[in-house]
Amino acid sequence: MVLPFKHEPFTDFKDERNRQEFEVALEQVKGELGKDYPLVINGEKIFTDDKLISINPGNKEQVIGKVSKATKGHVDQAMDSANHAFKTWKTWTAEERADLLFRAAAIVRRRKHEFSAWLVLDAGKPWDQADGDTAEGIDFLEYYGRQMIELGKGKPLADRPNEHNAYFYQPMGPGVVIPPWNFAFAIVCGTVAAPIVAGNPVLLKPSENTPVIAYKLVEVLEEAGLPKGVLNFIPGDPAEIGDYLVDHKETHFINFTGSRQTGTRIYERAAKVQDGQQFLKRVIAEMGGKDTIIVDKDADLELAADAIVNSAFGFSGQKCSACSRAVIHQDVYDAVLEKSIELTKKLTVGNPSEENVYMGPVVNQKQFDKIKDYIEIGKAEGELAYGGGTDDSQGFFIHPTIFKDVGPKARIMQEEIFGPVVAFTRAADFDEMLEIANNTEYGLTGAVISNNREHLNRARYEFHVGNLYFNRGCTAAIVGYQPFGGFKMSGTDSKAGGPDYLQHFLEAKIVSETF
Ligand code: NAP
Repeated sequence: MVLPFKHEPFTDFKDERNRQEFEVALEQVKGELGKDYPLVINGEKIFTDDKLISINPGNKEQVIGKVSKATKGHVDQAMDSANHAFKTWKTWTAEERADLLFRAAAIVRRRKHEFSAWLVLDAGKPWDQADGDTAEGIDFLEYYGRQMIELGKGKPLADRPNEHNAYFYQPMGPGVVIPPWNFAFAIVCGTVAAPIVAGNPVLLKPSENTPVIAYKLVEVLEEAGLPKGVLNFIPGDPAEIGDYLVDHKETHFINFTGSRQTGTRIYERAAKVQDGQQFLKRVIAEMGGKDTIIVDKDADLELAADAIVNSAFGFSGQKCSACSRAVIHQDVYDAVLEKSIELTKKLTVGNPSEENVYMGPVVNQKQFDKIKDYIEIGKAEGELAYGGGTDDSQGFFIHPTIFKDVGPKARIMQEEIFGPVVAFTRAADFDEMLEIANNTEYGLTGAVISNNREHLNRARYEFHVGNLYFNRGCTAAIVGYQPFGGFKMSGTDSKAGGPDYLQHFLEAKIVSETF
């Protein structure tokens, strides 16, 4: 008997005891920095000479870990081991596979602060964001376990006299998981756990920015009793193994989360049927966002400013759901802008591995340079209203930045920046607000702050995003409460953490018997 799903509570860091416990976890993890990590193929730990060096983005000198890099030969070995493991893994019952995820959830919950501390060091996450990331990973394990038990029962079908019909789900075979770095535990955990609990072995290629925390998940699943070969850990250079993994004739699915550019490349390549390939590949591609908060004339302006600031600057705007566009009714534009600037002035920026700050660094030099370039572009396209400061002397720090009076078609209103930069634009009425909100190629998240029921009802159907929020910010979806995925060039709308997600990794089969 499994109790209904409840999401993992967040840690309150205002509580002194929690702060102290977290500091202990940070010290413990600091004592483990700089180690070598292997590939894991068929349960075997393989160390290679060629290594990814993962650093702390808040302190570039600090090496988090050195992670072995896989070659094409390793990919072939991993695929062989996955095919072999599939023969027995698919015979485990849904309950047995779900139990394994529940054990894994229990292990992570026991070591929750330790996992969050790794996220602080490996991804530069502030404490509350790291805690949310770990909690979401636990949620995915708990939620998908329960979903699999449900789907394991199959679906009812009608029978006729002398005929019995059955509808059930079966796994497809090995596939590839390619996650991003920004939810370095949660997304890795969810995108791996779902296909695995459905009965499919996985080849996991983590992001080069955060491979150590991904390795920790591999350890947890091993400890929970995952058989050899069901999860193969093959970090590596995308230029060396990226296309090779996607093109491989034995790859049944690619579960990708990342940028539009990489996602569309994978989508195209996976469509090509390779010599000897006996099935069509499935691609789950969850990609970028350019997410808008609309503030109506008739709105709670304090709430609006709070929603914009937290959605724009939480984890330095490095969320696919982050607010990077505020579209505001002309009558309340100045008031919302002023309140947003006041709130932003209070935000602290620093190295979260040393202190509990609101905003840490951005993830790497490439992102730092890109965001800095967008700040320059913003200065030409609008007026810098607040922030704009950058400093990469020790870590990759960008201060929260607000541009005002930006045109709806400006580049900083259209292109994903993935940093702490938000552009404000004014609109004459609700029609214009909706038009601007929908005028990008993305369709991931959005929010409407309004007390006008008619406008909220219109937005429900006319604001074209996969996750729409009313009278709150546009980030912080929770597994089982707000299943996540976007429209348009934001991806395949997989709704991670929702009731339909596991079906991406299952084949439905009908057996009809006459007797
Ligand atoms: P990215 O550069 O596209 O990388 C994503 C993953 O793809 C990484 O593991 C990366 O490896 C790998 N990769 C890169 N080139 C590849 C290739 N040719 N073949 C196979 N794999 C390849 O994205 P990112 O910078 O990590 O993540 C940020 C993006 O993710 C943003 O656009 C954000 O909006 C999006 N995102 C979307 C969601 C969602 O649910 N919609 C959630 C989170 C993030 P390396 O890291 O080793 O290069």
